Amino acid sequence: MQELRFDNAFVTQLPADPETGPRLRQVHGALYSRVDPTPVAAPRLLAHAHEVASLLGIDEADVATPAFAQVFGGNALAAGMQPYAANYGGHQFGQWAGQLGDGRAISLGETINAKGERWELQLKGAGPTPYSRKADGRAVLRSSIREFLCSEAMHHLGVPTTRALSLVATGEAVVRDMFYDGHSKPEPGAIVCRVAPSFIRFGSFELPASRGDVALLKQLVDFTIRRDFPELPSASSDDEQLRGEWFGQVCARTASMVAQWMRVGFVHGVMNTDNLSILGLTIDYGPYGWVEDFDLDWTPNTTDAAGRRYRFGNQAAVAYWNLTRLANALVPAFASTEPLQAGLQRYADAYAAAERDNIAAKLGLAECLEEDLGRMEQLHALLASAEVDMTLFFRELSDLGAADLDQPTLASLNCAFYDEAKRRQAEPAFIAWLSDYAARLRRDPLTAGERRTRMHAANPRYVLRNYLAQQAIDRAEQGDAAGIHELLEVLRRPYDDQPGCERFAQRRPDWAKDRAGCSMLSCSS
Ligand code: AMP
Ligand code: MG
Repeated sequence: MQELRFDNAFVTQLPADPETGPRLRQVHGALYSRVDPTPVAAPRLLAHAHEVASLLGIDEADVATPAFAQVFGGNALAAGMQPYAANYGGHQFGQWAGQLGDGRAISLGETINAKGERWELQLKGAGPTPYSRKADGRAVLRSSIREFLCSEAMHHLGVPTTRALSLVATGEAVVRDMFYDGHSKPEPGAIVCRVAPSFIRFGSFELPASRGDVALLKQLVDFTIRRDFPELPSASSDDEQLRGEWFGQVCARTASMVAQWMRVGFVHGVMNTDNLSILGLTIDYGPYGWVEDFDLDWTPNTTDAAGRRYRFGNQAAVAYWNLTRLANALVPAFASTEPLQAGLQRYADAYAAAERDNIAAKLGLAECLEEDLGRMEQLHALLASAEVDMTLFFRELSDLGAADLDQPTLASLNCAFYDEAKRRQAEPAFIAWLSDYAARLRRDPLTAGERRTRMHAANPRYVLRNYLAQQAIDRAEQGDAAGIHELLEVLRRPYDDQPGCERFAQRRPDWAKDRAGCSMLSCSS
């Protein structure tokens, strides 16, 4: 690790809290506080993503050294690291929550790889910071496994996301009340090192704006444009046009991220503005979930069960709402609100276009026509009413051949249905839909081969099914990390049929339907 080169722009170019260390406090006039990770009893590497190590220029021999687990377990710093916790605010479940900040994340620094790319390394669960409020700054093994696996699974699915370098067991217990029912118990602790070009969030801008600190707000805007959007021309101060283009890009990236979530059936679960990345990366894997039986109203987050604000089908609307919060915060950095309005319109346009792209790709069409919007909507209604597995259905649909389409039957799609009675009842409606779809395909210019290729690239075979993650967690809690490695290996090639890996592409088993961790998650992590 000696060879990692650091250029810590965030801490060298932005104002720091004059106080260092983890004492709890409100921090004004500063975007971060210096704080070191708190050492743990016995750091032990459970898993790592070799692609991320190689991206950073860390070779496999280094990963295997005790020093690696020491650094990424928070017990040692490599030369050039300057740990800090970021200060930001956010809207949680629609309400302004004031200062939040990195309560259990500690950034180690920004490393520059051989290609000149900037990658910030951040430990999650590394101990208390000034922003830990009433909590301990730690993370449990189960939620760390979920973050580690999902970050990498999303990347391999082609969804913009923060990455995960490592998963280190701390050898210490963390006490959690998993169901918020007064039954706390000790659980094994762990630390993930996540990796991204930037961890700046919408809430990073909201906090100085909420405090009327316009100078700090503008400083952060200019910094973000300069460091995180190098494709934009370099910022001169108060350059309205540049800032407008930047906000437009944030909107377009957010639209494309959410559209990708919808394509693969990912539900973030806690889209608070402190959990939205300025780079349009999926960030903060907490009570997320993967859609199994198709349901636009499903939320994996038990805290969200009443209002369902973060339900699958509401994600595009919530992202827009979050962008309006960001736009509001940015008003003082603009002479007129017109560029902000234009950015929000860009979101709406980009999302509508991306939604059409999803329809064309998922159904294997050369392009999405007006009529296909209704066709997909009809299919969604059928999938929901008949309790059909989203991933299995679309994948099997990709494999329907000419004969299946001439005389549609449900035969090869049966494996996607959770309830036989509902399947039988819905069968005529599905056959009617398939006949109409077949007729539509006959009018489409793509050949059967082209269609199949297009659909295979949009409809994964393997996703991180909630119960599969839980099985890996159960094994790891018993001391066997092999389940994590097996899952990661399969999820590296989600669009390829992998012989021998059929058990990773099955309907959720009945036992998992109502089991915690498999169908619903609390924020307790
Ligand atoms: P989240 O919903 O996970 O994004 O967390 C919201 C806020 O709570 C952020 O400021 C987190 O840093 C903080 N937080 C969550 N869990 C902990 C913890 N165990 N210790 C300290 N802060 C936490
Ligand atoms: Mg968060």
